[in-house]
Amino acid sequence: MSQAIAVHNATKSYGDKTVLRGVDFSVEAGTVTVILGPSGSGKSTLLRAINHLEKLDEGFVSLNGELIGVRVKGTRLKELRPKDILRQRAKIGFVFQNFNLFPHLTILENVTEAPISHGVKAAEARENARALLARVGLSEKEADYPRQLSGGQQQRVAIARALALDPDVILFDEPTSALDPELVGEVLAVIRTLAGSGKTLIVVTHEIGFAREVADRVVFMDEGAIIEEGTPDQVLTRPAHPRTQDFLSKVL
Ligand code: ADP
Ligand code: MG
Repeated sequence: MSQAIAVHNATKSYGDKTVLRGVDFSVEAGTVTVILGPSGSGKSTLLRAINHLEKLDEGFVSLNGELIGVRVKGTRLKELRPKDILRQRAKIGFVFQNFNLFPHLTILENVTEAPISHGVKAAEARENARALLARVGLSEKEADYPRQLSGGQQQRVAIARALALDPDVILFDEPTSALDPELVGEVLAVIRTLAGSGKTLIVVTHEIGFAREVADRVVFMDEGAIIEEGTPDQVLTRPAHPRTQDFLSKVL
């Protein structure tokens, strides 16, 4: 197997607050990794650094063996050119907690926006978007606007949108945390269908049942560091670290 994502010595501070403390993290292509951890532990910052939404102070990220977001103190390693960053970002889809759909665009337009801005012809982008909306069970909603949909439906559109550029990696940042409990299942079901499809998934979530069932690997973060990682059974059933045990006793 090859590494889809490798993060080396990711270090990030906001003012005098250190948010990532030299995180080393890698993910095999085609696997599902679930990241758990208390609020403020740096999970979102790590995902955002992987997707160039955040610049690291030190350390680097590579995608399919190619460096991205380089920042290594005391070395001459250079940052990628903006053009190369765009090319790399197109390989990574991102699903946000609050969906972040474009409110003034229809559901279909939300899904075609990125491909069209990347030069895909409108007719082809629409055809592909319709196939993706069918895949998340929302074909009949294509002419609606986001506000007409439930939160669960909006998040399924966001997943279709994240798939539109056919990325290798999809990052999910607490994709069900903003949903009413009865809508969580439909979104997790869509994510589950992506597991084993060849895509590499990294999912920040507190849904322990989902992690147990779908994850190949579970990573527990606390205070800007990875405290423990392993199979779902290792981390969720027999956690070795007291901080993991404490966290699980609160969320389970
Ligand atoms: P998590 O996703 O695990 O809850 P985050 O990565 O969002 O954690 O945040 C880690 C820490 O960094 C938190 O203490 C948060 O307040 C702080 N933080 C995040 N983004 C910023 C920012 N743009 N400016 C200042 N502090 C931030
Ligand atoms: Mg977060």
